[in-house]
Amino acid sequence: MMLLSSMDRRQSSSFARYLDGESWEIKDALRDAIAKCELFESSSYELTLDQSRDLTAERLYHLLRLPFMKEHLRNQLKEKQKGFINKSLGITEIICSADMSTGVKLGVVCGLYGGAVSNLGSPEQKIKWYLPVSELEFTGMFAMTERGHGSNVRGIITEARYNQSTQEFIIHTPSEDAQKMYIGNAMKGNYAAVFAQLIINGESQGPHCFIVPIRDQNGVMWPGVTTIDMKHKEGLHGVDNGILIFNNVRIPRENLLGKFGSVSADGLYSSPVLSKSSRFNAMLAALTPTRLGLTVQAMAAMKLGLVIAVRYSHSRRQFGPKDQDEVKIIEHQTQYLRLMPHLAAALALIFTTRYAAGLMDDALCQGQDLQSNRALQALVAGLKAYSTWENVACLQDCRECTGGMGFMMENRIPSLKCDSDVFVTFEGDNMVMLQVVVRELLTQYTKLMGNNLVMGLIRNWTSSVSDSLRTSFLGFSVDKVGDLMFLLKAVSFRERVLQRSLASRLYTKVEKNKEEFFMAWNACLHHVTTLAMAHIHRVTLEQFALAVRECHIKEDRALLTKFCLLHGTSLVYQERAWYLEHNYLTPNTSQQIRSQLLELCRSVKDDALKVVDDFNIPSCCIQAPIAGVANPRAEWAFYPQPQYPSSTQPLSKL
Ligand SMILES: Cc1cc2nc3c(=O)[nH]c(=O)nc-3n(C[C@H](O)[C@H](O)[C@H](O)COP(=O)(O)OP(=O)(O)OC[C@H]3O[C@@H](n4cnc5c(N)ncnc54)[C@H](O)[C@@H]3O)c2cc1C
Repeated sequence: MMLLSSMDRRQSSSFARYLDGESWEIKDALRDAIAKCELFESSSYELTLDQSRDLTAERLYHLLRLPFMKEHLRNQLKEKQKGFINKSLGITEIICSADMSTGVKLGVVCGLYGGAVSNLGSPEQKIKWYLPVSELEFTGMFAMTERGHGSNVRGIITEARYNQSTQEFIIHTPSEDAQKMYIGNAMKGNYAAVFAQLIINGESQGPHCFIVPIRDQNGVMWPGVTTIDMKHKEGLHGVDNGILIFNNVRIPRENLLGKFGSVSADGLYSSPVLSKSSRFNAMLAALTPTRLGLTVQAMAAMKLGLVIAVRYSHSRRQFGPKDQDEVKIIEHQTQYLRLMPHLAAALALIFTTRYAAGLMDDALCQGQDLQSNRALQALVAGLKAYSTWENVACLQDCRECTGGMGFMMENRIPSLKCDSDVFVTFEGDNMVMLQVVVRELLTQYTKLMGNNLVMGLIRNWTSSVSDSLRTSFLGFSVDKVGDLMFLLKAVSFRERVLQRSLASRLYTKVEKNKEEFFMAWNACLHHVTTLAMAHIHRVTLEQFALAVRECHIKEDRALLTKFCLLHGTSLVYQERAWYLEHNYLTPNTSQQIRSQLLELCRSVKDDALKVVDDFNIPSCCIQAPIAGVANPRAEWAFYPQPQYPSSTQPLSKL
């Protein structure tokens, strides 16, 4: 049994507690449980595909059997559970740090399948189709994507025809394009939440979600169901993805998840939502919490990559002044310039995700459904895109910054890269997510302007809007390039200009020039995605700044302030060409931003060791010998954990 190292047993610092947030207790319980469990002792890259999948399943079942996990799953069925989303995200993060496949499989079974049942089912259906999952009697999968329709899920063609004489639905795959693809847990799971066109008396009522048995607990397939193993992928080898084909599969009428539409015994359809399009949007909203979970999964990967790269950079030495010791590689300007902005972004993501989770928890506690909260859906979509891209860039830099050692499987970064690469694609392709953000921003803008013309064009997205995306902000007094206020104003300015110019372009194209909407939108797509990123950048900086203000421990606040300035400076630096184009920066202030970025990165490079330690990731999850975690299989990779430098670097006058 793996023992907790002295590092793991140390008391959490105030900073670590602040980063963990309100869900620290359940996170600590899970860290402890994982550190004590032999199943998580070694990495799994040497295993065959089948062994990887079996190990992932064993790990998942082990975790789901823990009493506090069982209780948490049961709470998913209760209405108005305070802090449920925040806790779920804490759980997701810790499990993903231990093993990404286990975290993703948990996401499929509890987040996607469980989310479909709990958000789309009646109270009785939740008991019937989800309670047994918390008792590990069976597991589920989520089958939305088809060969022919991935991002455009509205176009799915799997059929669910109602047969009045037997009171059954007949689930059928009418063509190759209708085959359900990439479905996680397809080779092991028992039930699928299947999205299909509901057809009654030959008329389609649009996509609905049905519980379809796939195989029983002994592996015997349900009549008419075929699964095909998709086998090898770039990563996530422990997750069994497969194809589902339905040949006139008969399921009882009660298996239609009925919150947004049900069929009476005599074949009468009823729904609380009249329009087919709004109905489908409401069903898609069931994905919102799991999508936020993906942001946390990406953060887990980033944090691990950063712990490994920052520690190694403080241990490894290369080059140096003549006749002196070689310097630690973190001292090379390019090394801290590559790593520190990612560390700042990881911190920004912690606070922004917590903010989104808080909004979601509040909404659920007040009995609001997520379906009608488009602003929250847009925030989550934007965070999903930003965090998963940021993760890919971060892990690549971590890999390069750890040289040849970073390429070795024992040092964890290669598998993190392969496992998390797909995060940019699944649960909503990032390009599509950015468009969700902008539709909401334009709705808000149109509302503000009182202009119903553009609103009409995007009416599918506008039925109900709240203002929670427009976070207000507190003032900081002085306004110089080196001040947070300057940076906040800069990112807000950019978002506002992009928003106004996009609305005007679309208005001209569609209203004045009568261009077809899809074509007009597509001609502006680069503008659309740029606006979405500008928006999410602004939100992350604001949330980071608020988290600085709310931090009551002086030293911790000072530390966060430096990283917050760094995050803002890095955001403005990335877009300096745009700011110069729009005369927001002069050549002179643009140069100041560059110097500021370099100086901030230098000043936090030693603090970085404390920050990554305070991510509070147990050694059994870090695994990498170059990060000071001994591994008898790879003694050649071991670098002792670096000591904190005696004093942290002051920030020189900018
Ligand atoms: C490992 C893995 C696990 C998965 N698990 C599940 C699961 O359990 N259940 C499930 O239902 N699905 C699952 N999926 C499917 C996943 O959700 C889809 O792959 C995803 O939605 C993208 O669809 P697609 O692959 O058809 O890509 P496409 O939609 O064909 O996209 C391909 C490219 O076209 C671009 N594109 C498409 N539309 C637009 C647009 N409107 N504007 C701009 N660019 C666009 C995209 O940006 C992308 O670059 C999984 C996929 C993978 C790889």
